[in-house]
Amino acid sequence: MHTLTTPDEMRAWSGRQRDAGLTIGFVPTMGALHTGHLALAADAARRSDRVVVSIFVNPLQFNESADFDSYPRPIDADVESCRQAGVAAVYAPTAAAMYPPGFQTRVVPGLLADVMEGAMRPGHFEGVVTVVAKLFGAVRPDVAIFGQKDFQQLAIIRQMAADLDLGIDIVGHPIVRDADGLAQSSRNLRLNETQRARAIVVPHSLDAATTAANRGAAPSEIVAAARSVVEAEPLARHEYTTIFDAQTLQEITDDDEHAVGPLRIATAVWFGDVRLIDNCELRTHGV
Ligand code: AMP
Repeated sequence: MHTLTTPDEMRAWSGRQRDAGLTIGFVPTMGALHTGHLALAADAARRSDRVVVSIFVNPLQFNESADFDSYPRPIDADVESCRQAGVAAVYAPTAAAMYPPGFQTRVVPGLLADVMEGAMRPGHFEGVVTVVAKLFGAVRPDVAIFGQKDFQQLAIIRQMAADLDLGIDIVGHPIVRDADGLAQSSRNLRLNETQRARAIVVPHSLDAATTAANRGAAPSEIVAAARSVVEAEPLARHEYTTIFDAQTLQEITDDDEHAVGPLRIATAVWFGDVRLIDNCELRTHGV
C-alpha cells in the first residue's frame, strides 16, 4: 500500500494507474476509521480496480475550533486498517500541503447547503465542497463513495460533480450502525460510557418517527414523536429534527399535502460537547 502526502505525489500515482488502464475508486474521510468507512472502501473496491482512501481533518469545514482540535487522529491505526482492507493508496496530506500560503479559492455550494447542517454550521459546506474539489483534483477518481450518514453532504457533492462537469460517478452508501442501532461515527469515540449507552435515543427517535409515519401521522406529529424520545433523555440536548424531500432537501410541513417523496427525516443531538447526526428514509403515504 502506498501512502502519499502531497497533491503532486497523489496525482502522479493516480496517473500511473490510469496509464496502466486501471480505474480508481475514492473514499474521502477525516480518519478515525470505523467499519462504516471500511464498508465504503469495500463498495469502492467492487466498483473500481484501485481504491484510494484520503485521511484529512479539514480545518476549512469546522466552524468551532474546539471541535477541530479534539477531533480524533489515530493515523497509525488508520493506515493499518486501510492496509488490511486492501486499499491501494492512502492519501494523507498535511494542512500545509492543502492550504499553502496564498491559497484563496473556495467552491460555493448552492441552495442545498442552506438548510439543516448548513443552517446550523455556517460555512461548513463551503469548506466541505472546497476540500472535496481539491481531493478530486489530486486523486482524479472514476467513482467516489459517500455515506448516507451525511445525507446532505452526499446531495451537495453530487450536485457539485454535475454542475462542474467533473465526470466522477458519485455513489451513496447506506448508513452502517453498531449492533444497538447507533450510526457509526468518529465522534462516538468522544462519548463517555454513559453517554454512549444513552446515545441510542438518536436512532430510537428515528424509529418513533417511522412508526408515526407508517400510521399516517402528519409531518409535525412525526417530528414531535421523534423529539419526545430525545427530550426524555436528560443527557441529550435536541438540536433539530426535520422531514425533507430527499431530492431538494426542502423541509416538508403539514401544508405540503402533495409532496410525493421520497422523504427523509434528519436529526442532530448533542451529548455534552459531542454532536451526533442521523437520518433515515420515511415511507409516508398521504403526507
Ligand atoms: P467522515 O470521516 O466522518 O468525514 O466520513 C467520511 C465518509 O464516511 C463520509 O462520506 C461519511 O458519510 C461516511 N460515513 C461516516 N460514518 C458512516 C456510517 N456510519 N455509515 C456510512 N457512511 C459513513
